[in-house]
Amino acid sequence: MEKIPFIDLKRNYEVYKEEIEKKVLEVLRSGIYLNGPQTQELENLLAKYLGTSYAVGVSSGTEALFLILKALDLPKNTYVLVPSFTFVATAEVIVRVGLIPYFVDVEEDTYNISLESLKESYEKLKKKRKQVSAVIAVSLFGLPAHLKEIKKFCEEKGIYLIEDICQAFGAKIGDKKVGTFGIASATSFYPTKPLSTFGDAGMVFTSHKNLAKKVRILKEHGQIKPYFYKYHGINGRIDEIHSAILLVKFKYFEKEIALRKAIVEKYIENLKDLTPYVRLPQFPKNYFSSYSLFTIRAKNRDKLKAFLESKGIMTGVYYKTPLHLQPVYKDFNFKNGDLPVTERLAKEVLSLPLHPYLTEKEIDYVISSIKEFYKK
Ligand SMILES: *Cc1c(COP(=O)(O)O)cnc(C)c1O
Repeated sequence: MEKIPFIDLKRNYEVYKEEIEKKVLEVLRSGIYLNGPQTQELENLLAKYLGTSYAVGVSSGTEALFLILKALDLPKNTYVLVPSFTFVATAEVIVRVGLIPYFVDVEEDTYNISLESLKESYEKLKKKRKQVSAVIAVSLFGLPAHLKEIKKFCEEKGIYLIEDICQAFGAKIGDKKVGTFGIASATSFYPTKPLSTFGDAGMVFTSHKNLAKKVRILKEHGQIKPYFYKYHGINGRIDEIHSAILLVKFKYFEKEIALRKAIVEKYIENLKDLTPYVRLPQFPKNYFSSYSLFTIRAKNRDKLKAFLESKGIMTGVYYKTPLHLQPVYKDFNFKNGDLPVTERLAKEVLSLPLHPYLTEKEIDYVISSIKEFYKK
């Protein structure tokens, strides 16, 4: 068996090679590289697909999150509730705009924000007379967070819900897409995300006209007319080449989600007998994942990872050190034991190879190798 990469980007490229190369060449020859027709078409298409009134193409998922927070202009030194079990970008943008991240715990089997922990954290801060301004809900590994309930909670408390859908573009609850529950949402088109390009890019979605307008200004240095600046902005543009690649990739997006889903179903069907060694993620009824990562909880995780690697199977650990225990966030006074589910997950999670063009043979090999490990 040849090596099985965790995510095979090269194989993905090969599938669309001709179409992408043709389109990229067109852009190169057009003389328009930024703020052009490719980006406009992509924004229109994706806003319509998601169900928001506006979409603004930006340079990455991180900058998309940053621009939303910057545009909302929340009171300085107020708190933003955020899961600890997420990629660092979700929290780093909070600090960048002068707000304070407050880490909350997640659920054992969806890995997404626990409503209970969210409510407890809010009450704890309130008791200390701290002001909470927003929640950033992450739909992790492709699975929607409990966005209906979180939205309701935020409305009751009069705080903003911002969605980090960087791993979950295309996912939905019932017919409603993630990214349409909050005041605004941020996605990423980083190469390993469900809808991806071959480089960095991202997008902000919102149905609020003024917010969309402000994000558009902020990503252009805060410029409101040529060389005239109203805000402290950034260079946060998406470029025409990535927009063009995304227009090609988007045609096959739903098909790719279906391919991912079939692979995940096969993993689940074959690994469910491995309890208690392996604990599988749960997908609540009516929640449709975009299956960006398939993450199990495994006994002896590090040994299993090494064993699979010795057989040529690459896996990933998201996330080995939770954010509340990262050195960079030590000033926010969280300690080991504060978020027990997050801390358990950090020791047990293992993401198995998953991309749309994984073959039956490869999936079978991964499954039989995991079984072999636990038989010993
Ligand atoms: C990837 C990711 C981001 C950041 O996206 P980039 O495009 O890499 O900047 C933010 N949040 C989450 C949850 C992510 O997975």
